[in-house]
Amino acid sequence: MTKRQSGVEARPFVYQGRTLSCKDVALDTLADKFGTPLYVYSGDQILERRAMFAQEFAGVEHTVCYAVKANSSLAILKLLAKSGTGFDIVSGGELARVMLADQKAVERVVFSGVGKQAEEMDLALNSGILMFNVESEAELELLAARAAALKKKARIALRVNPDVFAETHPYISTGLREHKFGIDIRIARKVYRRAAKHQWLEPVGVSVHIGSQIRSTEPFGAALARVVDLVKQLRKDGLNIRYVDAGGGLGIEYGTGNFDPAAKVHEYANALKKAMGGLDIHLLLEPGRFFVAQAGALLSRVLYTKVNGSKTFVITDAAMNDLIRPALYQAHHEIWPVTRSASKKTLVADVVGPVCESGDFFARDRELPTVKSGDLVALLDAGAYGMTQASNYNTRARAAEVLVRDGKVKLVRRRETLKEMLAQEVF
Ligand SMILES: *Cc1c(COP(=O)(O)O)cnc(C)c1O
Repeated sequence: MTKRQSGVEARPFVYQGRTLSCKDVALDTLADKFGTPLYVYSGDQILERRAMFAQEFAGVEHTVCYAVKANSSLAILKLLAKSGTGFDIVSGGELARVMLADQKAVERVVFSGVGKQAEEMDLALNSGILMFNVESEAELELLAARAAALKKKARIALRVNPDVFAETHPYISTGLREHKFGIDIRIARKVYRRAAKHQWLEPVGVSVHIGSQIRSTEPFGAALARVVDLVKQLRKDGLNIRYVDAGGGLGIEYGTGNFDPAAKVHEYANALKKAMGGLDIHLLLEPGRFFVAQAGALLSRVLYTKVNGSKTFVITDAAMNDLIRPALYQAHHEIWPVTRSASKKTLVADVVGPVCESGDFFARDRELPTVKSGDLVALLDAGAYGMTQASNYNTRARAAEVLVRDGKVKLVRRRETLKEMLAQEVF
């Protein structure tokens, strides 16, 4: 496993003797107790990442608004809310989660998304969120109408599309004019002017979000620089712009390369600070993946191995309905055996789930330490966009989730039952 050690500092999962552990908790004991597939999260690591942001942005007036869609577990939201974190939401459902996790965190919520509906706006207006990141003129009209009807002033930012290219998977790139997100930065000033005239709209910020899993920090700086120019123009127009929302998107290392998360946050903060150029503004940051991805692993048991012609398959009890990232984004996840064998034997296999789709794979032609039926494996870096994208495809119940913190284990979502899965149906 020496080759795989390089990225290890970035992950809370380490071998203690022969057994993969989350801090001091052996993963095989968790699988035995709670069954598989099982998501395991390190709460300590999530707070560590949060602390890195606090440290690097200490000199800047800012609020971290964790992107709930990366991992919306109530236990994780509560953990983050306790450390003063705000939230970036994309639906009324996510707002309800934040309110459950910590009612007081609502004042630190920003509401993004291209398709906000009237009821979602009403919920957000009534609960008093910090601001709406408005993504179109049509949305602005509806929001103005809802705000007027409820007699609640809506604080808004326009999410501008800066037309900046960010090197990432096309499905998670959002900052080009051809994408559905945001308002073309070239017409933003005009839209702000119109919004400012409305009695129930209060333009207070400018937002940008150029995509996800962005490894280079340069595009963040380029996008923010364009936003800063716009803020200056808007202030000249007499608008009281107090917030700049720099979005999320900071990437992690899913492979075996060296990755120092603290150094990455340092570089990211420097890029943003440089782009801000001393502008007096309250900065909002929306990290999602960076906080939770590496804190999580998906534990799964090997059901079978089989050989078809020249190919070997390892069939696990987890599937694409539990973790869709490989199928959806051709994403790489390291797959480590929970119990390391003394032998150095490896096999080259496709690691697949039981779902009836050829797209149901976790890895293709991957060299792995030899595993056999009954062995446990851990899919690493599965804490972001894993459980939140889980489904019941193939009528498979969704996984359970545990949170490990200070060496203590807590079941934070029990395994879904067959009965629960079928409860809404009428026939
Ligand atoms: C998804 C999303 C984020 C978080 O992205 P990450 O890549 O997980 O950091 C932040 N802001 C907005 C508007 C988003 O849609």
